[in-house]
Amino acid sequence: MRPTGKMHLGHLAGALGNWVELQSKYDCFYFVADWHALTSEYSNTEGLTDYAVDNVTDWIAVGLDPERSTLFVQSLVPEHAELYLLLSMIVPTPWLERVPSYKEQIAQLAEKDLSTLGFLGYPLLQGADIVMYQAHYVPVGEDQVPHLELTREVVRRFHSFYDEVFVEPQPLLTYFPRLPGLDNRKMSKSYNNAIDLSDDAETVRKKVKRMYTDPKRVRADIPGTVEGNPVFMYHDAFNRDTAEVEDLKARYRAGKVGDVEVKETLARALNAALDPIRERRLELTAKPERIREILLDGSSRAREEAKLTIAKVREAVRLKY
Ligand code: AMP
Repeated sequence: MRPTGKMHLGHLAGALGNWVELQSKYDCFYFVADWHALTSEYSNTEGLTDYAVDNVTDWIAVGLDPERSTLFVQSLVPEHAELYLLLSMIVPTPWLERVPSYKEQIAQLAEKDLSTLGFLGYPLLQGADIVMYQAHYVPVGEDQVPHLELTREVVRRFHSFYDEVFVEPQPLLTYFPRLPGLDNRKMSKSYNNAIDLSDDAETVRKKVKRMYTDPKRVRADIPGTVEGNPVFMYHDAFNRDTAEVEDLKARYRAGKVGDVEVKETLARALNAALDPIRERRLELTAKPERIREILLDGSSRAREEAKLTIAKVREAVRLKY
């Protein structure tokens, strides 16, 4: 996760919730991708470390366990840079230029100059991040599958020149609910349409009140559409009381409930889901040094693994002195 803003409900639905589940089945590595943040945010680096600490506070508050999983910071494991460099020697640049997200992102972020070597190389840096830990699986959404394919091609090319060192990683495809934001575009920190995990109950209530809903429903007695309606997508994702959700849907379709009630119920459900996260967050922020300690400790554990891989890589490349 790149430390470029606060964690929001989209992160919880699309990534973090799944990360928590994976801990019971796998030996997991989760990291703050601060160098990846620099690939597009190189001119604005001031908030990175604060966001890193803030984000990891949320990770732990939602249930990531620093004892069970390795939580670390990419730039605290400089072996990632060495591996990236060695891989960059064997990767033809057209492989990077044809990654679909490359041209897409350049077009989308037209206000930023992304004609940098760092931005072109970022899927390769991602590859180094993955193979460093001999990862068998990477939990990704469909949009990241081409990056993983590139990683596998790079591993095969490395093995064609040198000894076999790496595992070829497979995607662990996560069903990726693209959670809409308050305005029905994708929830994103850059659209100012997010409900943050750290928002208090009143802020959540106010945000839900201004949520986009079925626009043709100017009165409560007009039958409404549930499918694709973000308010109901949130109910489905976060309201544990399924009977309540079904009842609201039925009355909405029949024009027998006002948007105010649907939204008030949603705000209550969201706050109920966020309350335990808030509680843990509060405990964690009471001891701000704790998160830094967790990250330093996790990074030194990650570094032990990284050193083992780098030793094998140097030997394979015949850079052993
Ligand atoms: P970002 O903060 O936009 O770089 O997103 C980091 C990761 O969080 C993405 O790769 C997704 O896994 C997830 N994510 C972010 N926003 C959403 C969203 N609105 N819905 C679902 N998943 C999301």
